[in-house]
Amino acid sequence: QAKNKGRNRYDIFNPIGRNQAIARLELENDLRKAIERQEFCMYFQPIICLRRNTLCGFEALVRWHHPSGKMISPLDFIPIAEDTGMINELGWWIVRASLRQMRLWQDQLRVQSGDRPRLWVNVNVSPIQLKQANFAQGVQQILDEYGLPNFLLKLEITESCLLESTGTENQCLADLKKYGIKLCIDDFGTGYSSLSRLHELPIHTLKIDSAFVKDLQTEYQNGSCHNSIASTIIKLAHGLNMDVVAEGIETEEQKLVLRSLACDYGQGYLLSRPLAEDAVYDYISKNCMDYHEIQPIEARSS
Ligand code: C2E
Ligand code: MG
Ligand code: MG
Ligand code: MG
Repeated sequence: QAKNKGRNRYDIFNPIGRNQAIARLELENDLRKAIERQEFCMYFQPIICLRRNTLCGFEALVRWHHPSGKMISPLDFIPIAEDTGMINELGWWIVRASLRQMRLWQDQLRVQSGDRPRLWVNVNVSPIQLKQANFAQGVQQILDEYGLPNFLLKLEITESCLLESTGTENQCLADLKKYGIKLCIDDFGTGYSSLSRLHELPIHTLKIDSAFVKDLQTEYQNGSCHNSIASTIIKLAHGLNMDVVAEGIETEEQKLVLRSLACDYGQGYLLSRPLAEDAVYDYISKNCMDYHEIQPIEARSS
């Protein structure tokens, strides 16, 4: 069946499949124009140290303002950008836009506090981008351009990157390591990483997928948190000398449990939604000065 041949194949003899194929082609054309016209923007979601309850960094998340006025989710256009190869060009725009903003905030805050805050930024990278021979060099060049130290950048990759990696990707991962650019495994636990690969590569952080954080809610109620997948991932990460971030924290219970399980960092709607550029600066100045406790209620927006 056509469906089984890949996500960009449609059965044109089936009217539903045909409409989908047309809609998809239109989106593909719009995406091509969107890259030329730069219709994208970055949102930034705070990452919080659970132990100290302080702001530590952000994850940069791309958004597309479609000319129709709709805001299109990355879940809908990143796969198309990947299938068509447009992800490389878009990916460079994303790295540049994320680092430019970080530099701006660091400067603004230094003026305010006399000290440059050490906020990191996590940038999502698609496995396809790692097939570019000079990927690591390109990232290094942008870091230099904005005068940011490499240790403030983390690239989020998925487990499939590790599994499928061949010559170019391996070289790319080795170069990133050489430059001291950190790697983070996104949605950890949903793919099929081999533990030995995980150990070999310069991976700094595991991100617990939000599905396992959701499970903690019931596990909290029936007292089985210590046997949960989340707990297992935290122990694994620490055993491998890695940090661990929990994503999709939506309730106070989830946050409390994660903290009691010694999870290092957290991210989720409870702490803050992803913020538009202009909201980030306010968020940082409220939450970053002298390590104030974060203020989750006021910080909520978007
Ligand atoms: P991800 O990297 O796992 O990002 C986390 C997603 O969870 C984000 O969705 C974020 O808005 C959402 N989220 C955060 N906290 C909560 C919560 O408490 N509850 C719930 N239900 N959701 C939460 P978003 O921004 O729609 O991005 C979706 C996915 O698209 C990302 O998943 C990532 O795989 C991809 N993506 C986003 N931005 C980029 C990018 O710049 N480059 C690439 N290659 N992929 C991106
Ligand atoms: Mg991510
Ligand atoms: Mg994730
Ligand atoms: Mg996820």
